[in-house]
Amino acid sequence: MLELRNVETWYGNIQALKGISISVNPGEIITLIGANGAGKSTTLMSISGLTPPRRGEIIFEGQPISGRAPDVIVAMGICQVPEGRHIFPSLTVAENLDMGAFLRRDRLGIKNDLEYVFDLFPILADRRHQPGGTLSGGEQQMLAISRALMARPKLLLLDEPSLGLAPLVVRLIFQIIRKINQENETTIFLVEQNAHMALQVAHRGYVLENGEILMEGTADTLLHSDAVRQAYLGL
Ligand code: ATP
Repeated sequence: MLELRNVETWYGNIQALKGISISVNPGEIITLIGANGAGKSTTLMSISGLTPPRRGEIIFEGQPISGRAPDVIVAMGICQVPEGRHIFPSLTVAENLDMGAFLRRDRLGIKNDLEYVFDLFPILADRRHQPGGTLSGGEQQMLAISRALMARPKLLLLDEPSLGLAPLVVRLIFQIIRKINQENETTIFLVEQNAHMALQVAHRGYVLENGEILMEGTADTLLHSDAVRQAYLGL
C-alpha cells in the first residue's frame, strides 16, 4: 500500500532522515519506534507532504506522492493525526469533526461516520457542543483521531497518540486503535515513544535511530529482541 524507498529529508543543512525504506501492507498496523529526535515525526511529515523529502521515493497505491501538496495527499486517502493533537480550540467538538470531512461531499457517508466516531468515543457525543479547547488531554486526542477518521482515510498516520496521557487513557486509546484497524480495515502507521504499548498493538515494527532504520520485524520479534528490550523497553 505504501512504500518509502531511500527517503532523505532535510531541514536546511540538517539531515533528519538518511535514506530510510519502509513498506506498509493493506490492513496492517505498522509501528515506528525510536528515541527523541530519531526522526519519527519527520517520517510522517514526509509521507503527508508537510516536509517533503529531498531524495528517495514514496509510493502510495502504486502512485508516487513525494512532492505532492498535503491536500492532494489527504484526498488520496492519507490522513495524519499530528503530535500534540492540534485540534481547533475555539470550535466545538462537532465543528472540529465537520472540518475533518471538509473534502467530502457524500452526506450520508459523513453522517454514518459521525455516528461511528461517537460510538467509538461516547464522551465526544456528550461534549459535542463544547469548545475543543475545554476538553481534557485524553479527550482532545480522541477528538483528533476522530477528526482524521471523518476524512475516511485508507491510511491513518498517528504521531505519538499516548504523549502526556494518563496510563488508563493510553490503554483506551490503544484499544481503539486496534478496533479502528479491525472494524474499519483502516491501515495504521503508528509512531510512538511508548514502544511497549505500540508493539503490543502493531503487526510489524521498525526501529529508527538517528534518521536510520536499525531493525525491522514482526512486533513479536521486536518485543523479544534483547537490543529492543534494553534500548526501548527499559528491561
Ligand atoms: P520526538 O519524539 O522528540 O518528536 P522524533 O523522533 O519525532 O522526535 P523529529 O521531530 O522527526 O524526531 O526530529 C528529527 C531531527 O530533525 C531532530 O534532530 C530534530 O532536531 C530535527 N528537526 C525536526 N524538526 C526540525 C525543524 N523544523 N528544523 C530543524 N530541525 C528539525
